[in-house]
Amino acid sequence: MCPIIPRSEQLIHSISWQSELSRAISNVNDLLTYTGNCADDIEGLDTGSPSFPLRVPRPYADRIQQGNPNDPLLRQVLPLNVEQQPTPGYISDPLDEATSNRLPGIIHKYHGRVLLILTGACAINCRYCFRREFPYHENQNSMAEWQQALDYIRHNSSITEVIYSGGDPLLNSDTKLRQLTRAIADIPHVKRLRIHTRLPVVIPQRISTELLDWLTETHLQTVMVIHCNHANEIDEPTEQALQRLRQHGVTLLNQSVLLKGVNDDPKTLIDLSERLFEVGVMPYYLHLLDKVQGAAHFDLDKTQARQLAGKIAAKLPGFLVPKLVFEQPGEVAKTALLPLL
Ligand code: SF4
Repeated sequence: MCPIIPRSEQLIHSISWQSELSRAISNVNDLLTYTGNCADDIEGLDTGSPSFPLRVPRPYADRIQQGNPNDPLLRQVLPLNVEQQPTPGYISDPLDEATSNRLPGIIHKYHGRVLLILTGACAINCRYCFRREFPYHENQNSMAEWQQALDYIRHNSSITEVIYSGGDPLLNSDTKLRQLTRAIADIPHVKRLRIHTRLPVVIPQRISTELLDWLTETHLQTVMVIHCNHANEIDEPTEQALQRLRQHGVTLLNQSVLLKGVNDDPKTLIDLSERLFEVGVMPYYLHLLDKVQGAAHFDLDKTQARQLAGKIAAKLPGFLVPKLVFEQPGEVAKTALLPLL
């Protein structure tokens, strides 16, 4: 019988997001103990020190079912030996972001939108992350260097939307985010701010009063894209965090990654769409995996993905069916795949 230690649910409202971040689980054996699992029950587990380290905040680990080695949340964060095996067609920069990394901190891929890499850090390390080998060290700007990025936006009048990305952009302090957002809002042609973050899901305390203050003082339209892959990721504190965002006028969208062993069956995807809508989030994209080295074991081929999309389209109203897409380097937009009905 594997040992079980008490979980942190009783603490969830009483500690800050920064404290929650600092006490995140960073060791495989600690995670196994916390979730009531044994290493022997998990085939191919990497118990060493993977180059892409394990990192799981406790509010997220609390939602992992005790004693279930196949739990879909556990599978997203558990390092496996198979990650070390080179797989043909899976590379370190699958979206060729190096080509669109115009200046430190800026990725400009698509017309009208520019993406700012605000940090290389994340609250959780997802094993399927397409930026797991991104050269964050070349994209760490000081506030002074951000002036260069702001000038880039200022001099490109086609840019109407600025996207905060990372890493997880909400790991920055609210002081820095407020300062940057004010500077962006002063650029006349920018209309929207989009934030891609997993923090409302993994550490819901991050949706603090300070964050809501700078988000609501701006005249920019604000959109937050949460990255939620399974309905079990949305517990009550996350629901409350999302409600606070909605009450402050933030448009909430979700994009999921289609992951083998996590959400690759119709019922799971239907439950996810239903749960998202229940908490005020529109299911927006269902992404095929970006073919990053180390994540091939999560991948499904296009036909399997289209068949799944067909099964959910047959059961849900259209507005709850996320668009099935994948990204091809060099294309002017993401490529949509039609469901196989
Ligand atoms: S939160 Fe996003 S950027 Fe961070 S590890 Fe997960 S997928 Fe990658």
